[in-house]
Amino acid sequence: MKRGDVFIYGPVASRRLGSSLGVDLVPRKVCDYDCVYCQLGKTSVKTMRREPYVAVEAVLEQLERRLGEEAGIDYITLAGSGEPTLHSQLDEVIAGIRRLSEIPIAVITNGSLLGDGEVAAACARADLVVPSLDAADEETFQAVNRPCEGINLEGVVEGIASFRRAFRGEVWLEVMLVEGLNAREDQVREMSAVIAKISPHRVQLNTVVRPGAEPGARAVGEAELAKLAVMLGEGADAVPPLPRGIAVTSLGARAQKALHIMRRRPCTAEDVAKALRMNYTEAMKLLVEMEGKGLLSSKASGGKTFYVVP
Ligand code: SF4
Repeated sequence: MKRGDVFIYGPVASRRLGSSLGVDLVPRKVCDYDCVYCQLGKTSVKTMRREPYVAVEAVLEQLERRLGEEAGIDYITLAGSGEPTLHSQLDEVIAGIRRLSEIPIAVITNGSLLGDGEVAAACARADLVVPSLDAADEETFQAVNRPCEGINLEGVVEGIASFRRAFRGEVWLEVMLVEGLNAREDQVREMSAVIAKISPHRVQLNTVVRPGAEPGARAVGEAELAKLAVMLGEGADAVPPLPRGIAVTSLGARAQKALHIMRRRPCTAEDVAKALRMNYTEAMKLLVEMEGKGLLSSKASGGKTFYVVP
């Protein structure tokens, strides 16, 4: 762990979770998927290995401090710079959060490891688990999520479904649609059969927003998204095109500072995180929101995404 590492970000005002304080359990970007739409960019450490990527004590210490500073938090949310269930001490983290606070705990996960007994037992300590599912067939799963070798759709669906059956909290499923890859009507219809097997409490349909891992990953139009949500039946909800995990934050002093820096030179999310001493994910959320409000525009150059003031 480096000096100054930031594990707690937000609070983020999320449509689903209200005011959510984020806990980042893996460095950017450790994941067992490499989704084409990932707003964190390409997966740099693609692995299924569960490890103590960050020190639990340091995470809990920072969280305790932040909880003392913040009021009105609706959820403490494990999400962030990769796949949080890859942290091998997830169980300890959630137990530690429980000791610190009575605020409900949410885990945002790609769901790939919910079939693993240890991961399922750790997630079962949370109040809400939000896994994702973006395909109904293996070929589409491989094309959209690009998982580690050895992960297949059938296993993932079975893992999420058995977790759902045993879990006493709520499971909200997230579906991310990418134009030209998994958003055809017949694909969504097939997905609805797979979702029925899982029987989540809620389904949330999203679409991609730049900057993603692949510049070619295109968003589905808002009207089309709403139509596809209807096909998924009651309990399915289409949200306006925001990337997964990105919620609307209030633009405050940090946005002003970010604008101040970017008026001088184009910056990457990493530059902004460093300059404003923010967690990368938090910086990314701020930039995407600012771009959504027309305050910034982004352009790809040399494999990086730069933000500029138009
Ligand atoms: S979207 Fe989530 S699951 Fe997909 S690559 Fe990014 S961090 Fe991993």
